[in-house]
Amino acid sequence: MGSLDVQRDPPTGISVLISGAGVGGLTSALEFWRKGCDVRVLERAKESLTTGDTFQIGPSVRHMFKHYPELQRRHDEVDYNPLFCKSKHTGERMMKPVPFASITTPDKNGYRPSSSTHSRPKFHKILLEQMERLGIEIEFGKEVVDYYEGVKSAKAGVVLKDGSKEEADLVIAADGLRGKSWSLVAGEPVPVRSSGSAVFRAAYPVELAIKDPEVAARFPLEEDGTSIFELWLGPGMFATFWRNDESMMWSITHPDEGTAEESWNHKVSPQTAVDYTATVPGWPEVANKVILATPPDVLIDWKLMWRDPQPSWVSPGGYVVQLGDAAHTFLPSSGNGATQAIEDSASLAACVAIAGKENIPDAARVHNLLRFERVSFLQAMGVARRDARTSKNGKKEEPLMPGMWLWGHDPEAYAEENFEKALAHIKDGAPFKSTNKPANIEYRPWTIDSLSEALEKGEPSILEGDWS
Ligand SMILES: Cc1cc2nc3c(=O)[nH]c(=O)nc-3n(C[C@H](O)[C@H](O)[C@H](O)COP(=O)(O)OP(=O)(O)OC[C@H]3O[C@@H](n4cnc5c(N)ncnc54)[C@H](O)[C@@H]3O)c2cc1C
Repeated sequence: MGSLDVQRDPPTGISVLISGAGVGGLTSALEFWRKGCDVRVLERAKESLTTGDTFQIGPSVRHMFKHYPELQRRHDEVDYNPLFCKSKHTGERMMKPVPFASITTPDKNGYRPSSSTHSRPKFHKILLEQMERLGIEIEFGKEVVDYYEGVKSAKAGVVLKDGSKEEADLVIAADGLRGKSWSLVAGEPVPVRSSGSAVFRAAYPVELAIKDPEVAARFPLEEDGTSIFELWLGPGMFATFWRNDESMMWSITHPDEGTAEESWNHKVSPQTAVDYTATVPGWPEVANKVILATPPDVLIDWKLMWRDPQPSWVSPGGYVVQLGDAAHTFLPSSGNGATQAIEDSASLAACVAIAGKENIPDAARVHNLLRFERVSFLQAMGVARRDARTSKNGKKEEPLMPGMWLWGHDPEAYAEENFEKALAHIKDGAPFKSTNKPANIEYRPWTIDSLSEALEKGEPSILEGDWS
């Protein structure tokens, strides 16, 4: 099909250097290419990292994907649409499985959107396929160790591990959680500390699990082949179990006893997880069977680290912009890391296209203003959901049901509609109000500590109000 199905804007003469070929880096490459920019992508790994288990992709992403018909087709082909079911940590179901959409807030027409559940490896692969269709190459084995900018030269650059440098009109730092751009952006690395918790998480071929008849009976497919995503709520922990016709997927939160790391490559043995579940009263043997059927070298023990929201994602001169996890990390309970990285890409590319080559710093700052409050609300949602899921009795309900401000958002259109107003705010202090967040809740700065304390004490917080 070549690239003919994707409409590309006329050349802008803007060169963009992207560090990191994760979801944020790849979608930035696509969006900047579509906007007529010259794009280069540098990736630390020697080859594409198509590992991982699952993540959620929200419907807002469709606004970007509609510009790439083949990508949209592949997205629909590889997404899963499981039913949702809550259970106790003993495995006893607390409800009949229902479509995910039935637990989201409907819009005024009764339409109930919901996220798509994706295998991360498959999702990553469809982005790589789209890159290939457009002829955008990834330069592997290029580890960025530092970022810099020259305000006079109106250029930014990266320093690679071998000491060489690469420059462009705009540098996008999409190098993930422990990205190297914080020293330039904030003057120091973003403070990070352990939450005290970690998550075991794994995905493996389902045949290995269901060869045990007890597992096959407890984790069946529905008669029509639909799979069921189960959320198990237990004392101070939660777990997920989910199978489809290809994979068995599971995750369990647990206190971090020093076995975990914040790394997608940090593997532990299944026995480590069973040692933990042995301490959970009422934990069923069938769940241990699922854990022990996990092949060696698959189970990740992910350390949950806390980073407070950071309002500035742009270097002082405006030529380096952090994007995705490099700008804002999410707790897994937010279900928004990948979606917000993709929204960032569409927003930043739209801002740069509007501002043009002479005004890249304006574009970067407008993008930051347009995105920060929205992202910060969703980060807070992750904190609240974590608290609800790990409550002592395991019975609290999900507190927040975001509505169309989340599901229906079109980041490119939002940037186009709000660019001038946001710029006037930045330059002259003209009033500007974000409208891509819960409509009637004023944003107020928060930290993980202040929010957790407010939740604990039942005090007012950013979470109070109408999220629909
Ligand atoms: C291998 C892997 C597996 C994952 N599995 C899951 C999962 O199962 N479930 C889930 O919810 N999330 C997973 N994630 C995280 C998820 O993809 C992100 O939270 C989300 O998609 C936001 O994407 P991002 O592009 O901002 O960050 P990431 O997806 O983390 O991408 C960052 C990219 O930058 C590269 N990079 C890092 N440092 C440098 C450097 N110094 N120089 C150049 N390149 C660099 C990394 O190799 C990576 O390709 C995984 C991430 C990775 C990298």
